[in-house]
Amino acid sequence: MSFLFTNARIVDGREPERGAPVEVLVEGEVIREVAPKISAPSAEVIDLKGRTLMPGLIDAHVHTIACLADLGANAKLPDSLVAVRAMKLMGEMVMRGFTTVRDVGGADHGLKVAAAESALPAPRLVISGKALSQTGGHCDFRGPYDDRETIRTGFRLGALGRVADGVPEMRRAAREEIKAGAQFIKIMANGGVASPTDPIHFLGFSREELLAVVEEARNAGTYVSAHLYTDEGIRRAVECGVHSLEHCNLIQSETAKFAATQGAIAVPTLVTYDKLSSEGAAMGFPAGSVAKIDSVRLAGMESISIMRDAGLPMAYGSDLLGEMHRHQSEEFVIRGRVMPAHEVIASATAVAARLLRMEGKIGTVAAGAFADLIVVDGDPLADLSLLTRQGAHMPLIMQGGTVLKHTSLN
Ligand SMILES: [Zn+2]
Repeated sequence: MSFLFTNARIVDGREPERGAPVEVLVEGEVIREVAPKISAPSAEVIDLKGRTLMPGLIDAHVHTIACLADLGANAKLPDSLVAVRAMKLMGEMVMRGFTTVRDVGGADHGLKVAAAESALPAPRLVISGKALSQTGGHCDFRGPYDDRETIRTGFRLGALGRVADGVPEMRRAAREEIKAGAQFIKIMANGGVASPTDPIHFLGFSREELLAVVEEARNAGTYVSAHLYTDEGIRRAVECGVHSLEHCNLIQSETAKFAATQGAIAVPTLVTYDKLSSEGAAMGFPAGSVAKIDSVRLAGMESISIMRDAGLPMAYGSDLLGEMHRHQSEEFVIRGRVMPAHEVIASATAVAARLLRMEGKIGTVAAGAFADLIVVDGDPLADLSLLTRQGAHMPLIMQGGTVLKHTSLN
């Protein structure tokens, strides 16, 4: 099947203005050609009449299995229920225009295969498997009086992570995740909001453990992503070779500059703190966690400016839980308050593609890339909110050359 988009004005985050009208030829699952005029007599012509054509969006921080806001309870759900709910959450993501998502804790290789082969729409999935946490860290949901032995094998699909302590366990856990299909390793290297016994300022893991897990990831040709908030935690992680810096709400200028020189990429997730603050309690987020939100939420906006000024690239992240997933696209609008719109869009196209190591394949409208494309009514460079509202302003969504949504383009 081939399609020829005509009168398409490309927005991919590289330029502050929409491109001049071009034609884009899709053959099979890839983009074959982008040019002012293309001859393709057998292709189905879709005249966009000057509408915006964008590469499918990329969200670099999701938890596809987080169907409940209470992550401790989520980890106890049966796998069958979690799998079906995760497919539903993923279907909703792709209908918001996110044709690729990076799962940073929870999804396993089975879910990735299911998403790829299912007739139900789902994003391309890049996975870390289970995130690694120390005892009492961000994936240890046992409360202070719960001294049951932590599970070391046979993790439920609904669990975001697993507990590992000490260098040998760290290495083994990383190797097990990679063997099971993890494409990078996720670790919890700071305290967290959603977990019961780790204040934000706690550093997760010793330096030796961090160095060991970075070595294991590099041995497998990949990288480590770390959950991080504090300036001290971020600096230590970057010194140990961590590449993907999640959240970073409390980062300071010197550390941001240092991270930039090390080639790291940050993944802020401001929307989740915004929504946890306004909706979390009603959605079942535990009271002890609600009390922690403002310690990271309030510094969030400033962190975006700090990282931008330091030249630290930022990929798009949302990190939403349970029913709050519906706010996934609002991160665009939040960042748009302190950054130019094209840079915000680049976070979900070029920067995220680089982080996922899929440059040239996703996040671009170019020959050889997957035909992951969204059509937008209006100019998102002038109004980022066109990317919100569950795809309401996206009359067409295509993934790998397959049309997932196509409403009238009159
Ligand atoms: Zn997360």
